[in-house]
Amino acid sequence: MARDSFVTHLACGLTGEQFASDVLQRVSSAGKPLLVRYDLAAIAQAVRREQLTQREPSIWRYRELLPLPLDQAPISLGELMTPLLSLPAETADLKLGQVLVKDESRLPTGSFKARGLVMAVNMAALFGVRAMAIPTNGNAGAAMAAYCARAGIAVHCFCPSDTPTANLREIALHGATLHRVDGMIDDCGKLVAAGEREGKWFSCATLREPYRIEGKKTMGLELAEQLGWQLPDAIFYPTGGGTGLIGMWKAFAELAALGWIAGKMPRMYAIQAAGCAPIVRAFDQNERFATRWEQAETVAHGIRVPAALGDFLILDAVRESGGAALAVSEQEIRTAWQDSAKRDGVLMCPEGAATLAGLRIAHTRGLVAPGERVVLFNCASAYKYDLPDIYSAT
Ligand SMILES: *Cc1c(COP(=O)(O)O)cnc(C)c1O
Repeated sequence: MARDSFVTHLACGLTGEQFASDVLQRVSSAGKPLLVRYDLAAIAQAVRREQLTQREPSIWRYRELLPLPLDQAPISLGELMTPLLSLPAETADLKLGQVLVKDESRLPTGSFKARGLVMAVNMAALFGVRAMAIPTNGNAGAAMAAYCARAGIAVHCFCPSDTPTANLREIALHGATLHRVDGMIDDCGKLVAAGEREGKWFSCATLREPYRIEGKKTMGLELAEQLGWQLPDAIFYPTGGGTGLIGMWKAFAELAALGWIAGKMPRMYAIQAAGCAPIVRAFDQNERFATRWEQAETVAHGIRVPAALGDFLILDAVRESGGAALAVSEQEIRTAWQDSAKRDGVLMCPEGAATLAGLRIAHTRGLVAPGERVVLFNCASAYKYDLPDIYSAT
């Protein structure tokens, strides 16, 4: 069914084993994430990068590099390209060339989860899926609920009971069935997996289907285009399940293979909260796989992910790129959160603030050099969270 695209097959992210792309797939036989492979030579023949830039400014301008068949009109809520905002005060402080924030808060449902979920829901709809479920810390569930409403697919969202209220309400308003779970996102994941085994729904859990990565990949494609096909020196990414980091790294490899970018790849920095840092621990201990983080806790709900199926893909990308995995404290997140709002006028979500805190740590450790251009990710709207209350104290 998934014909008329440039997709050739799916490949296991760990073993490389190949799987057909014309049927609904979940994970590989090794139980690891599946990556979408394209006929890049054919894409290079079919389209030039200059042509893409004349299309509408949305993720769909990269159509040839996406899995949805070219003749299929996407189910869409307006997935616009997001701006790169500068942080002049921060740039001056750290003596960098440029600190840029990719402001993902402007996407449908107010977070970059829309990029991944629009692709997953489109592909599921194409394969005739009628019911889906997702374990979520909030933003993914909201995006999933919105796109499923649009596609006419029934949806179940499983959230930790302390998920921010705005997200819970948003999910319910979109008509999803909300399950509040006394536990973490991976506990929610077990319930989703059990329901899938019983045939109740198709699971859209992070990296348990092949297409969310492809949607998140568009962050890397946009970044390349917006910076004149010249990638930045370093990227700071708030890492939970790691879809975005893995997706961008995949995007850069595809762009290089197409001959659309040259020069060196950015160093990838996976930023985690000190209260939930399984990837940082594995990075520091030179492990390829991470172990579960117990008693996870952080204000940055989107990165409160104790265990990630794509741990090795995150760690591979970080190491290959010459980057690092860094943990930031709650206090460092709060300080960065306030500083960017107060000094540069950019009100981020706590996960976005964590990337700024991560940059500051990298700067202290000499991991970034004067004059470099770095990109942070503000992945959601600040309004989806309980903002820190600093006025009633005064
Ligand atoms: C999901 C989420 C993240 C983590 O993204 P991954 O690609 O899954 O690692 C970071 N920030 C916010 C706001 C999120 O919703």
